[in-house]
Amino acid sequence: MYRTHTCGQLRLENKNEDVCLSGWVQRIRNLGAMTFIDLRDRYGITQLTIEESAPEDIKKQVALLGREFVIQVKGKVVERSSKNNKIPTGDIEILISELTILSQSEIPPFTIEDNTDGGDEIRMKYRYLDLRRTMVRKNLELRHKMAHLVRNYLDGQHFMEVETPVLIKSTPEGARDFIVPSRMNQGQFYALPQSPQTFKQLLMVAGFDRYYQIVKCFRDEDLRADRQPEFTQIDCEMSFVERDDVLNIFEGMIRHLFKELKGIDLPALPRMSWHDAMEHYGCDKPDIRFGMEFVDLSEVARNKDFSVFNTAEYIGAICASGCASYTRKQLDELTDFVKRPQIGAKGLVYVKYNEDGSLKSSVDKFYSEEDLKTWSAICGAKPGDLILILCGPKNKTLPQLCELRLEMGDRLGLRDKNVFKPLWVVDFPLLEWDEETQRFYAMHHPFTSPNTEDIELMESNPGAVRANAYDMVINGVEVGGGSIRIHNTELQQRMFRCLGFTPEQADKQFGFLLNAFKYGAPPHGGIAFGFDRLVSMFAGLDSIRDTIAFPKNNSGRDVMIDSPSEVSEEQFKELGIKLV
Ligand code: ASP
Repeated sequence: MYRTHTCGQLRLENKNEDVCLSGWVQRIRNLGAMTFIDLRDRYGITQLTIEESAPEDIKKQVALLGREFVIQVKGKVVERSSKNNKIPTGDIEILISELTILSQSEIPPFTIEDNTDGGDEIRMKYRYLDLRRTMVRKNLELRHKMAHLVRNYLDGQHFMEVETPVLIKSTPEGARDFIVPSRMNQGQFYALPQSPQTFKQLLMVAGFDRYYQIVKCFRDEDLRADRQPEFTQIDCEMSFVERDDVLNIFEGMIRHLFKELKGIDLPALPRMSWHDAMEHYGCDKPDIRFGMEFVDLSEVARNKDFSVFNTAEYIGAICASGCASYTRKQLDELTDFVKRPQIGAKGLVYVKYNEDGSLKSSVDKFYSEEDLKTWSAICGAKPGDLILILCGPKNKTLPQLCELRLEMGDRLGLRDKNVFKPLWVVDFPLLEWDEETQRFYAMHHPFTSPNTEDIELMESNPGAVRANAYDMVINGVEVGGGSIRIHNTELQQRMFRCLGFTPEQADKQFGFLLNAFKYGAPPHGGIAFGFDRLVSMFAGLDSIRDTIAFPKNNSGRDVMIDSPSEVSEEQFKELGIKLV
């Protein structure tokens, strides 16, 4: 028997018990008369004590120990004279009578402590050591717990977990596929699923009624910002539902998670139309932890000789409370911020509504105090506030103003990680025009149903058709998204036509689905949550990387196993792939 208890288990109640523990040597402190060892396992740390009077063979063994050795000890639980209230086992220690080295360790390449000295690259290379660190392990424990809570909740709602295949068929829509050559069908390829979308819909046709799966999905995208080529979704689908049925069930799921993990009773989630989100926050995933909503000054600000405004399609403002005292330097910083290439604004106009009621702006040359007063009134500004204005083409200015608003939110400490403001964004456009390829793309995916009242516009004004789609957004992050689906062949064919597919192309790509709809498809809809992202939000992390046991780096590499890697010519030959 390797152990009677774990390293996180023993308390004062166990005083005088003879115990046996196994674990890793976290630290050794030799104080001459006494030696202390912190023994660590997944459950915690227990202090071991070796007195000077201990048998020689034990002392010899101890002298051989180093960090991260795996040992087994036997001994008696005693009360500590100086207690450590920072750890749950801090009232006791083990006076050891036997010590066995189970496994030696080389000196680890970085310290296995919360504040490690290891940089990113080295920790990823030795990820199994990084995972020994409590804070990294905690994230994975949370992930496990969340998966468990999700399964419990969905099981309680009669969802059935069904596995869908990982080797599927490549489709041109959506992101880029990872493809896998088929040896048995040379010259042909599988694709890894970007999501189980069509399979879950087929499960509805099959009458499964409520499906879910915590499932790996794959997208071969450039790893901008916090993305992983493989990631996990909580993927769900339901039959005989309308939008609100789906929203209610998954609002319930998110409420369950907040209640169980954070003790928070979430109020009903507000719903915002995509149009309002864009107009007031400049993006489809608004952070509503704070206000500072956009104000449209386009009409009122074009009345003078300021050609920049006069020629702008859109002039938008935000009002930063209490910021009229910003110095020249701070205002320059903000101007530099919006002019950064990633944001791309041409400049920033400000109006200070000073505490004494006077108004001062960067465009005083063109506008009278009366004008500035009008703007302030429209913005709802109070003395002490600062109005920040951007202008230009609307589709460019809205996202720029969105970045500026978030920056101001950060500066003013309005984006507290411990405050959670989820909402539903609804009524997305069905289609999105792409200038480059001069065609419409499905904003969500081609199986999303248009809003019934907009169907008649599909051919005459495709851009105006709203989708019966929804996203769940928390603190400016899209954590989930889904839609009510099309469930009849004709409408699905019409949708493919809007996307520029010929009937033959539609049939080749999605014939199986169009066919399935001919055999009694129930009305259905669903949603998928980004599980990694949800975990990182609950863990208060900025990145999804540390919610994943073995993540890839920013170039899509696993530096631990050194993948991707080359394969032998032999393998290519077997696959019938010729190298050029
Ligand atoms: N399959 C969709 C996605 O991955 C989600 C859904 O519509 O259920 O975004």
